[in-house]
Amino acid sequence: MKALHRSEYTHIKVIMHQSDLAPLSPTTLERWLTGPRIGPLPARGVGTAPPALSFEFFPPRTEALEAQLWACIRRLEPLQPRFVSVTYGAGGTTQARTHATVSRLAAETSLIPAAHLTCVGASRGEVDDVARQYWDSGVRHIVALRGDAPPGAAYTPHPDGYAYAADLVAGLRRVADFEISVAAYPETHPAASSPEADLDNLKRKLDAGATRAITQYFFDGSTYLRFLDRALAAGISAPIVPGIMPVSNFAQAAKFSAMCGTSVPDWLGELFAGTEDDPETRRMVAAIVAAEQVRLLQVNGVDEFHFYTLNRPDLTYAIAHILGVRAKPAA
Ligand SMILES: Cc1cc2nc3c(=O)[nH]c(=O)nc-3n(C[C@H](O)[C@H](O)[C@H](O)COP(=O)(O)OP(=O)(O)OC[C@H]3O[C@@H](n4cnc5c(N)ncnc54)[C@H](O)[C@@H]3O)c2cc1C
Repeated sequence: MKALHRSEYTHIKVIMHQSDLAPLSPTTLERWLTGPRIGPLPARGVGTAPPALSFEFFPPRTEALEAQLWACIRRLEPLQPRFVSVTYGAGGTTQARTHATVSRLAAETSLIPAAHLTCVGASRGEVDDVARQYWDSGVRHIVALRGDAPPGAAYTPHPDGYAYAADLVAGLRRVADFEISVAAYPETHPAASSPEADLDNLKRKLDAGATRAITQYFFDGSTYLRFLDRALAAGISAPIVPGIMPVSNFAQAAKFSAMCGTSVPDWLGELFAGTEDDPETRRMVAAIVAAEQVRLLQVNGVDEFHFYTLNRPDLTYAIAHILGVRAKPAA
């Protein structure tokens, strides 16, 4: 039998209606052929430069977590990220641990460390002293943040402190010639009065002396790309690096997302549903979700990524590989 052209299928359908017979349900092939056609993601060109990466760690609380962190650092180190950053707990609760981790990174690895620093619970003088200590121990990059009040409380600035991250950026510029990164929110910071006000705030932070923004993590690439459009229209030209959180524990990620204002699309829940007691499948799903997310951004021109590693290297390592980043032997 001669193969039918797609237009002939349509024709047959019309005749069926005209002859007042019960319309046949479309055949499987007909359904497949009338669906949208989406081309493949373009392959990365041979010889194209791989993207620049940065990795975020949190300071460990116990010896076991310390060992986990250092195993993670050693695994990711050969990927030669642009920098690695270490978070700072609310109210300076991890100050000593952050400092110890950042100092050890500077002293014992080939990595360039960046220390997160917040405004919460400290006077300007105290924050400046911490920054000075970093500078004196060779740390040249600060991720400057406002920070949050403890859970359940509303944020109130310290009476003698920096009230917002933009004030902290200006203060750090007075302390030393730091490279400064700040936070950005593709879905708007939960406490902002409007998306426009939040974007104005981002611009103030960059105008005060930050050179890069790193975003809160997101799952929908188009949300981030639209945010870039709005940022450019608002006169921002500094890089706004996407913060990528490879999700390996969906329930935990959903809970955390609700607190920080990241929307969790239904499709993501669907993909992880039923994998709760199946860690192997969950890890594979997690890798595929994150790989699709970064590849989509990459083909849209994004060539810098910041990974929230949660001190676990495997997903980040695999996704970096997919992006074209390869381990290099130590010099
Ligand atoms: C990449 C990244 C890393 C992070 N690392 C840490 C960390 O290590 N430790 C930690 O505790 N938290 C961290 N956070 C969380 C961050 O501290 C919180 O999201 C916090 O609520 C806001 O910090 P910010 O620096 O964005 O604040 P800001 O930029 O100061 O903004 C905070 C809110 O205040 C509004 N605002 C700013 N200026 C004014 C003004 N003058 N008047 C009125 N409203 C104003 C803004 O629109 C926004 O809603 C991180 C977040 C990101 C995205």
